[in-house]
Amino acid sequence: MPDFPLIFERSSPQRRAAIPPQAELASQVDLGQLLGEEHLRSRPLDLPEVSELELVRHFTGLAHRQFSVDGNFYPLGSCTMKYNPKVHELLAPEFQELHPYQAPETVQGALELLYALQHGLSSVTGMDQTTLQPAAGAHGELTGILMIRALHRSRGDTRRHIVLVPDGAHGTNPATASMAGFDVLEVPSRDNGEVDADALIAALSDEVAAIMLTNPNTVGVFETEILRIAEESRRRGVQLYYDGANANAIVGQVRPGDMGFDVVHLNLHKTFTVPHGGGGPGTGPVGVKAQLVPFLPHPLVVRAGAGYALEEDAERPQSIGRMRSFYGNFGNLVRAYCYLRSLGADGLRDVSYKAVLNANYLRVRLQEAGLKIRYPRINMHEFVAQPPGGIRTLDLAKGLLDHGLHPMTVYFPLHVKEAMMVEPTETETLEQLDAFADAVAELLARAREDPEYLAQAPRQTPVSRLDEVGAAKRPVLSARQLRQSSVTSS
Ligand SMILES: *Cc1c(COP(=O)(O)O)cnc(C)c1O
Repeated sequence: MPDFPLIFERSSPQRRAAIPPQAELASQVDLGQLLGEEHLRSRPLDLPEVSELELVRHFTGLAHRQFSVDGNFYPLGSCTMKYNPKVHELLAPEFQELHPYQAPETVQGALELLYALQHGLSSVTGMDQTTLQPAAGAHGELTGILMIRALHRSRGDTRRHIVLVPDGAHGTNPATASMAGFDVLEVPSRDNGEVDADALIAALSDEVAAIMLTNPNTVGVFETEILRIAEESRRRGVQLYYDGANANAIVGQVRPGDMGFDVVHLNLHKTFTVPHGGGGPGTGPVGVKAQLVPFLPHPLVVRAGAGYALEEDAERPQSIGRMRSFYGNFGNLVRAYCYLRSLGADGLRDVSYKAVLNANYLRVRLQEAGLKIRYPRINMHEFVAQPPGGIRTLDLAKGLLDHGLHPMTVYFPLHVKEAMMVEPTETETLEQLDAFADAVAELLARAREDPEYLAQAPRQTPVSRLDEVGAAKRPVLSARQLRQSSVTSS
């Protein structure tokens, strides 16, 4: 039962949070004459009437209920919920007075930043050129696959209708391939967590347009046969796509371009200091090798004399066109640029080094706590665990909420039963990792004593265990309905 009133329920007639000055002009204008009487309101807007202090307390109270990296540990596997330094948040608004229609000569600083970021991300990934347009990881995938389609077509190669995707891939990979009109062929994984390279290579043919891989893959395992896979793809004219959402594991250490990949997208909202968790805006830049540069979306930022400009569309007539209006999600690009500049090459290497160290430490601690490790080997930035017999992953996840901990990703990847995917990230301390492992150990011990204990969790959160079947079949979608249903049920 929610104990937090709506702002409308706090309302009392005539209270005001702010009193604007009388608009002199409004009293001189006859609105009915101006707009037509039929367009005027017959009764006042039903707005909440509260004092300024009530307003502040309402929203501050809500903000404190928000679960976030700023408040709590958040080891959500595959999502890289690391801490984003606040200094980047201070710098991004410095640019917000700019308008996207401003003439390029008046926004040279912004263009220089974009140019330097295109270059910086190309060197991090080992690619020849990078577009900053796509607005999310999945959007970057679509951009990359559309470019691959355009490349094959430009060569008169129209037979390639298949994209190969491992069974552990993030759901956006097969979704992207089919959105771009390809047939998806799933490739199995091996028991050591790697993709079955023999099966993958056996599936290569002149009907295959691309392979989409994540390395390290979604179970946090580095694909050790990547060079052989890349060599065989090249021989068969197949483009190799790198889903770089897991780049936090490798930045500064190895580059997808050096592994033989032709296209890579990065998630700036995972690896490069762009806050996420609230649903956006994201940014998924895409880097490509030389053969794909002609197909990159418009526009790239280019050098023009001593300054910078947006490239003319006519300069690359084979471009797949625009993927996003204007300059992409510019504020995110500012944050990522600051992150690159403040860390430098050594700092980036340190990010992935510590992300991997933290994940391996936590893997061992959680194994000691009683979880099963699905692929017991050195992992990269994340790993997959399973609960001991008789305990459900969902129940353990709910139990963690009572400890003020965000659960790991649950029930993904799909090919691991009762999967828990844990990604602590580099920004957490040893003490925090220990506290998490201790909480898991305590919950498992309690569950052994009392099998019902976890089934009732969480107990401390504003909303306790939800009736998930009821929520799907008889959804309660308004506060009034909720109040009524809890009156009748109590
Ligand atoms: C997060 C993620 C994506 C999708 O990124 P979005 O920005 O959410 O679209 C794709 N692949 C992997 C491996 C991911 O972790």
